[in-house]
Amino acid sequence: MDTVVQALSDRDDAYPTAYNYVLDNQGIVLIHNDPTLVGTFHENAFQSLPPAEISGGNFNYRASDTHSIAHFSRLDDLGWIVITGVPRADILRPIMVTILSSLGIIIAASLIATWLVSFLLSRNIINPLIHLQKRVQEIAHGRKAPMSSEFLPNNEIGTIAEAIENLTEDALFQKNIELQTKNSLLDSLSKTDQLTGIANRRMTQQVIEQEIDRFNRYKKPFCLFLFDIDHFKAVNDNHGHEVGDQVLMGLVGLVQSVIRRTDTFGRWGGEEFILVCPETSLPTAQTIAEKICTAVREYEFAQGLRITLSIGVSEFQSGAALQEILVEVDRKMYLAKQKGRDRVEA
Ligand code: GH3
Ligand code: MG
Ligand code: MG
Repeated sequence: MDTVVQALSDRDDAYPTAYNYVLDNQGIVLIHNDPTLVGTFHENAFQSLPPAEISGGNFNYRASDTHSIAHFSRLDDLGWIVITGVPRADILRPIMVTILSSLGIIIAASLIATWLVSFLLSRNIINPLIHLQKRVQEIAHGRKAPMSSEFLPNNEIGTIAEAIENLTEDALFQKNIELQTKNSLLDSLSKTDQLTGIANRRMTQQVIEQEIDRFNRYKKPFCLFLFDIDHFKAVNDNHGHEVGDQVLMGLVGLVQSVIRRTDTFGRWGGEEFILVCPETSLPTAQTIAEKICTAVREYEFAQGLRITLSIGVSEFQSGAALQEILVEVDRKMYLAKQKGRDRVEA
C-alpha cells in the first residue's frame, strides 16, 4: 500500500500542482497524500464523476474556489477510482505562456522583415528614383553634371536609371540648346528690323526711355535725330522697290560708319530713322548731323543713286516725356523739309 501511495505522490514535471488520489465506489477517500482526508467522503469529485458504466475519462469539478480538470480510471476489480486532478488555471498557464511567447516571436520577426523590406526598397528603388527625378529636373534646367554612381543601385533599376539618365540628359540637353537658340533668335527678332538688322521701332523706343531715366537720375544730356530720306518715293518709282531696299541698307551702313558705338541707330518706320546719342549736347549733335548729311549727299548708293536727308535734331529737356521729345524732333524734321530738304534743323 505504501508503494501505491508513493507512486500516486509522484507528479508530472509539466504540472507540479497535479495531485492523485483514490476513491472507493462510494466516494470515500482511500488513498490521498493528505492523510487527514483518508476515510472522508469526497463529495465534489464524486458528484461530478461520469456514471459508473464509464470506466475512464475526463471530468471537471469544483472544490472550494478551485476549478479542477481531472482524469479518472475505474479499477473495478479493486472497486477503486483513481483520480488525477489539476487546477484548471495551472493547465492554461503554460498554454498561454507558449501562445504569448510564440506571438512575441512572430511580431518581432514581422517587424524585422518589414524594416528589412523597406530598407531594401528605399536603397534599391525609391532613393535611386528620387535622385533620378532630381537629375532629370536639373537637366531640364540646363545643368549638365553626371549623376553620382553612388545613387545607382547595382541591379535592374540601376541599369534602367542610368539608361534613362543618359537618354534624358542627351535629349533634354539638346532640346534645351534648341530652345535657347530659338529664344535668343526670337528675342533678337523682336528687337531688330528685318531688312537692315538695326534696332526696330520698339527697341529704339526702349533705348530712348532708358536715356530719359538716365537723364532724370544723373542729369546726363542726350540728343535725338530723326532722319527722313528726301523724295524716296521717286527712288522706288524709278528704280524699283528692291533698289529702294538696297539704298535703305546702304544708308544704314554709311550712318553706322559715322556714328559712335555708344549711339543707337534705329529704323523708326519706312524711310525714317532715329539716332539716339547719349552724353551729347545740342551743338555737338548738330555737328554730327551735318556730318551725316554731307556724307549721305556725297555717297554713291546702289546703281549710282544719290540721295539726301532731312534731319531734325532735339536735345532732351528736363521734365519732358518721351512723347514730347518725339513730337519736337518730328517738328524739326518737317521744318527741314519745308526749308528745302537736304539740311539739318536743330
Ligand atoms: P519726302 O521728301 O517728303 O519725304 O518724300 P518721300 O517720297 O520720301 O515721302 P513719302 O512718304 O511720300 O514716301 C516714302 C516712301 O518710302 C514710300 C514708300 O514706298 C517708301 N518706303 C517705305 N518703306 C520702304 C521699304 O522698306 N523699302 C522700300 N524700297 N521703300 C520703302
Ligand atoms: Mg517719310
Ligand atoms: Mg521721305
